[in-house]
Amino acid sequence: MDHRWSDMSEIIAEQEPLALHTTFGLGGPARWLAAPRSVEEAGRLVDRCREEDIRVYVLGLGANLLVCDDGVDGLVLRLNHHAFRQVEWPPLDGLRGSKVVVTAGAGADMHRFVLESVRRGLAGLEGLAGIPGTLGGIVRMNAGGRWGQIADVVREVTVVDEGGRSRRLTLEEVGFSYRSSRLGKAVVCEVKLELTMDDPAQVRRRFMDIWSQKSHVQPLGQPSAGCVFKNPPGHSAGRLIEQAGLKGHSIGGAHVSHVHANFIVAQEGATAGDVFALIGLIQSEVARRFAIELELEVKVWGRRHARSLESVA
Ligand SMILES: Cc1cc2nc3c(=O)[nH]c(=O)nc-3n(C[C@H](O)[C@H](O)[C@H](O)COP(=O)(O)OP(=O)(O)OC[C@H]3O[C@@H](n4cnc5c(N)ncnc54)[C@H](O)[C@@H]3O)c2cc1C
Repeated sequence: MDHRWSDMSEIIAEQEPLALHTTFGLGGPARWLAAPRSVEEAGRLVDRCREEDIRVYVLGLGANLLVCDDGVDGLVLRLNHHAFRQVEWPPLDGLRGSKVVVTAGAGADMHRFVLESVRRGLAGLEGLAGIPGTLGGIVRMNAGGRWGQIADVVREVTVVDEGGRSRRLTLEEVGFSYRSSRLGKAVVCEVKLELTMDDPAQVRRRFMDIWSQKSHVQPLGQPSAGCVFKNPPGHSAGRLIEQAGLKGHSIGGAHVSHVHANFIVAQEGATAGDVFALIGLIQSEVARRFAIELELEVKVWGRRHARSLESVA
């Protein structure tokens, strides 16, 4: 182990393949992958990286990530220790319509969290049915869609800032916007959400309805990172790609889904390079036909491909 991490070697793996940690199943290794056991330990790692001029990446479930085939030269933080996956449910003795505050760790699996809130008859998260991720990644991305977004229920976010210090951020400081936030390099550690007591049968019905609609219009069971592009104002990125004649198009193992044209699916033997090439083709075709620049919603890790993307965009 590199001497810089000798005091933290038990929580750090070297050259860890990120393909194992992304829903695309693509991407080369992280130079270091660290799994801190507390907020304080996360802060120490961030601070050490600042001192040593090492770039920090934060990994959730990897459901919105495209990692280049060469991997990343930096330290990837993964908050999957159980200390970051706890959810504190308050006692529910209020009336229908009353608000409750739930405190959860950033590593909490969103699917389980949503299911548990539905089971308890708490409304507010059912609109996120079918969106894979950790709570931290969901907040960073302000994930959501037609049925709501996480910003609707977040009340406070605790982060480790660039200097390694723990800070509580107000909603204004979090700065939610469409599929984004102003969190920048802050590491989300804990989130307070405000949910509403409702009739459990009704919350469950809404959840099932949303889940069923999504499973018909998205290739949920295939390796992807969700929607690749943001919807340009007034347009649907999926429809533009379809109108450009690219639905079902493939480059190598990367394939524009037949189910939803804004999803690229990684087929057997795909590389991140294939996905980047397909992204470049889509961007140039949509720009040529409709004079619209498609902006990436997926986050790209790795310098080499970020450059090649700029050159094709
Ligand atoms: C099948 C499928 C369907 C999807 N459907 C939707 C959808 O309907 N709506 C939608 O919005 N998205 C959707 N997505 C995309 C994805 O689910 C969301 O973007 C989600 O927020 C990703 O969370 P994650 O934990 O996997 O984050 P990651 O992919 O691991 O990371 C995404 C970004 O968040 C940052 N991040 C992760 N954790 C933290 C943290 N603790 N602190 C600070 N930054 C952090 C990362 O550094 C990165 O910049 C879908 C993806 C898939 C595969």
